[in-house]
Amino acid sequence: MKKSERAEIILKELKELYPSPPIPLNHTNAFTLLVAVVLSAQSTDKKVNELTKELFKVADTPEKMKELGVSRIYEYIKQLGLSNQKSKNIYLLSKLIIEEFHGQVPNSFEELESLPGVGHKTASVVMSQVFNIPSFPVDTHIHRLSQRWGITNGDNVRQTEKDLKNIFPISEWNTLHLQIIFYGREHCTARGCDGTKCLMCRTLYPKRKKKFICKKP
Ligand code: SF4
Repeated sequence: MKKSERAEIILKELKELYPSPPIPLNHTNAFTLLVAVVLSAQSTDKKVNELTKELFKVADTPEKMKELGVSRIYEYIKQLGLSNQKSKNIYLLSKLIIEEFHGQVPNSFEELESLPGVGHKTASVVMSQVFNIPSFPVDTHIHRLSQRWGITNGDNVRQTEKDLKNIFPISEWNTLHLQIIFYGREHCTARGCDGTKCLMCRTLYPKRKKKFICKKP
C-alpha cells in the first residue's frame, strides 16, 4: 500500500474517532498555554493540569510570573520532573517576553524558539493552537505511531515531522496531531503491541496475518 493510501485511511479513521479533539493542556491565554507546554516535557498532561490550576490562579501573565520568582514557581511545580530547570526557564521566558516582546507571546518559530525551554515541538504547539498557523508538532508518541503505521521511516522526530507534512494536507495538520495523540493514549500506547489488534493496523496491513512487533521506537 502506498503512503498516500495509508494517510487517507488514517485520516478517515481518526476523524470518525475524534471529530473535534480538545487541547489537552488547560490554559486561559497564549502565555498560560506556552507555560503548560514547557511544563509538560517528560510529565503527563494530567499532572501538569493539576499543578497549573493553582499556579495560574496567581500567575497567568508574564508580569505576574516574573513577580513570583524562581523559588515560588518551583513550589507550585516541584512534583514535576526537571522542576528545577523548568522553574528557571519559566521565570526567564516571562522576563524575556516582557523585555523583548512587549509582554506578548511572539508568533514566529524563530522568536518562540529563542525563549528558554522552548524547542521546536513546543513552538509548534503554540503556533498551531494559539495562532492557528499550520504546524505539525511531533513528539515521541506521534513518532511511534507514525512508525507503526508505516508513514515514516524517520529515525527522529524532525524527519517524521517532514514526512507527515508531506503526506497529509496542510489543512489537517493542526487537528491531526491532536487526533494522533488521543489515539496513542487510548489504543496505541508505548507498551508492546502485536500489530494486529486494532482495525487501524488490520486496514493498513491487510496481508498481515501474524503478530508483528515494530522494533522502531
Ligand atoms: S495494532 Fe498495535 S500498532 Fe496498530 S494501531 Fe493498534 S496498538 Fe497501534
